[in-house]
Amino acid sequence: MSETPVRVRFAPSPTGKLHVGGARTAIYNWAFARANHGTFILRIDDTDPERSTEENTQIILRAMRWLGLDWDEGPEVGGDFGPYFQTERAEMYRAAAQRLWDEGKAYPCFCTPEQLAADRAEAQARKDPFQGYQRRCRDLSREEAQARIDAGEPYVLRIKVPADRGDVVVRDAVHGEVTFAARELDDFVIQRTDGTPTYNFATVVDDAAMGITHVIRGDDHLSNTPRQVIVYEALGAPVPTFAHISMILGADGKKLSKRHGATNVEEYRDAGYLSDAFVNYLALLGWSLDGETTIVPRDVLASQFSLDHVSKNPATFDPKKLEWIQAEYLRTMDDAEFVEKIMRPALAAAGVDAGEHASAWWGALAAIVKPRTKFPADVVTVTAPVFATAETLVYDEKSVAKGLAKAGMGAVLDAAREALAGLEAWEPAAIDTALEPLPEALDLKKRLVFQAVRVAVCGNLVSPPLGETMALVGREDCMARIDRARALAL
Ligand code: GLU
Repeated sequence: MSETPVRVRFAPSPTGKLHVGGARTAIYNWAFARANHGTFILRIDDTDPERSTEENTQIILRAMRWLGLDWDEGPEVGGDFGPYFQTERAEMYRAAAQRLWDEGKAYPCFCTPEQLAADRAEAQARKDPFQGYQRRCRDLSREEAQARIDAGEPYVLRIKVPADRGDVVVRDAVHGEVTFAARELDDFVIQRTDGTPTYNFATVVDDAAMGITHVIRGDDHLSNTPRQVIVYEALGAPVPTFAHISMILGADGKKLSKRHGATNVEEYRDAGYLSDAFVNYLALLGWSLDGETTIVPRDVLASQFSLDHVSKNPATFDPKKLEWIQAEYLRTMDDAEFVEKIMRPALAAAGVDAGEHASAWWGALAAIVKPRTKFPADVVTVTAPVFATAETLVYDEKSVAKGLAKAGMGAVLDAAREALAGLEAWEPAAIDTALEPLPEALDLKKRLVFQAVRVAVCGNLVSPPLGETMALVGREDCMARIDRARALAL
């Protein structure tokens, strides 16, 4: 743990919904803060007025809540370093830019786009190793610059990269030391003609003001980092530790996009993924606990996450693995939790009247439904035979053809009825035991006998274990189902 308390931020631009890559960045920041007993800040980088919308901000906040990534400072919760929307911080950027100008660390530039294009073309023609801004306005006197501003000439503010700055070495927790050559350092724009700050400037002003100690973000920002380092130095602020995390690729090795399927967090929520399973899966896209553990519960992530287990290689999004993790979370949920969090809401959403049952009944149902559930909606299909009645049960045509409408199956149902009628306790084991001798008695294959009873009672061939299901359905209704199915059997 570092000596200064850890402060990290996730700074999405509300130009779209929260996508999988952004969510993973948020998870790493959150987990890093939690593992280091630090502070997790959410900042909305809404400086692009054309593309930022309030609706997207709300979608992002909702997605963050669904992911369970509680932030300590930011929208809705406040904090000592606000405001947490960049649009509300315009004054701070202006003041910081002004201060840099006053200190001779930034300067106004009046070059027109035409002038800049001409300078660039010329630098190219003479094969100048330095292709950036040719520093035409760098040495204008303060008086001249002020006079031109007063005369209404449009200008931008550029940072003045110190002449002796040399190469910039970025220390990155994932990539190690990355060196950017001095000749690539431009006197870049920090404040546009309209007075708004550029991304590289606003971000650093905020990160410095908010005391950010570690900047964890996508590695598409690695190339921005030397510029940001220059801004930290100009501001006299300590440079944080950077951690640039790899891209997420689709199975074809191309950057994950819509072509690969769902990319927004809310699409996964709506598809029925559990937040815990989804967070677990995303955390593994570039980070590992020990190189092999796949199920990493949220509390383990929040205590064990560390940057030295983050890989710099691109991660591949694997929907199959995500599904597998989801199934594991469902399978290992305890019965009562599965009933309350998964079954009841799914049944209610599908308009199924589950009726009144004791909690033991629900627990027994959960036990057979869980291993057959990948998504909450599966609960509805798997439990359909249980919540049906002899009157409403739907007989699947194919299952009937395969399991019931065959010579000899009528006799199977008759024998089953008789064997079950004498049962004292209507329990799974007793039911199984009662049915057990039928194949031999009827001289039929076991599979045929059980298929027939299964289709008769459940309407299909894929339902949960027969004895358990019949026990949950109840004696009377099972008998009525067998009677009804008798007409379908040959
Ligand atoms: N708003 C920027 C983005 O969404 C933040 C980048 C950063 O973390 O510095 O890409």
